[in-house]
Amino acid sequence: MKYVNLSEESRTIFRGRPGHENKQAAFLSNLKNAIDTDKLSLHYQPRFDVVTGKADILEALVRWHRPGVGLFSPEVFISDAEENGLIFGLDLWVFERCCKDLKQMQESINPDVKIAVNLSVLTCESIYFAQKIINISNKHDVSLSDFEFEITEHAHIHDVRKVISFCETLKNYGAEFCLDDFGTGQSPLVNLTLLPASTVKIDRCFIQGIGNSRCCEIIIQSLVEMVQKLDMQIVAEGIENSEQYWFIRDSGCDQLQGFLLCKPVGIDSLKSPMLRSPEINYPDY
Ligand code: C2E
Ligand code: MG
Ligand code: MG
Repeated sequence: MKYVNLSEESRTIFRGRPGHENKQAAFLSNLKNAIDTDKLSLHYQPRFDVVTGKADILEALVRWHRPGVGLFSPEVFISDAEENGLIFGLDLWVFERCCKDLKQMQESINPDVKIAVNLSVLTCESIYFAQKIINISNKHDVSLSDFEFEITEHAHIHDVRKVISFCETLKNYGAEFCLDDFGTGQSPLVNLTLLPASTVKIDRCFIQGIGNSRCCEIIIQSLVEMVQKLDMQIVAEGIENSEQYWFIRDSGCDQLQGFLLCKPVGIDSLKSPMLRSPEINYPDY
């Protein structure tokens, strides 16, 4: 299925067009309807442990299929959902779907598998949504210790104390937290000292610089060293080629993720062999 992709530039142009506000309102109303009527779906992408080669954790990535239009990547609608308050319902919908999928995965693939769920930092600013997450996990009889929440900071944190108490509340039930897209967006270094996360995910833009930007390579190596000294885990996302793969392996990251290893797929396409890192054996490397 083809993705409908709008670059940030074309979205800005689109926003300036006459009639844009009506189209935007219709787009948001369709998105709200998709959330309310279960029309979203999830793809899962494994995160592979460097030492064992096993994918013990799968990241849930939301998709929106619009009949007659195509499959929308979250890149197209997450920011709008954040700006218009739809993100809360979306994040809860995704979490509830993950609770249902977790049982199926643990029964059919691996009893120890966990799910990484992306949460907007806006959702994480409200203790009300922490309680909602606890209620949903109880309703589906799943443990929050089978989840890691990847905090995505496209939006600005208004009150970091609220995010800390959100995280602490869910940590009491066994949940873990990861700082996603680290080094980009609105994520300042000080978050490492404030938020009770156990994992940091280096943003894809640094991985893309491997082999062509000494600056990116130095940032990756320094980040890995810093995160290790903080006794946290570090994940590299967006690995697309063998040069990036070997650089990241040599740098000491704990987990790897990217199209080279496994693309995001629907739950029914997830098979046990995909949860083992493919043997990357490039003779010319
Ligand atoms: P993210 O959490 O950083 O997820 C990684 C994105 O990179 C995903 O895009 C994934 O499909 C893509 N990706 C993975 N490996 C590669 C690779 O090797 N090369 C390239 N070029 N891309 C790769 P996707 O699914 O379009 O998601 C985009 C962003 O939307 C996510 O970035 C996350 O910030 C947000 N998102 C996705 N699902 C949710 C959700 O349920 N809730 C919230 N709040 N945000 C979500
Ligand atoms: Mg993520
Ligand atoms: Mg990311």
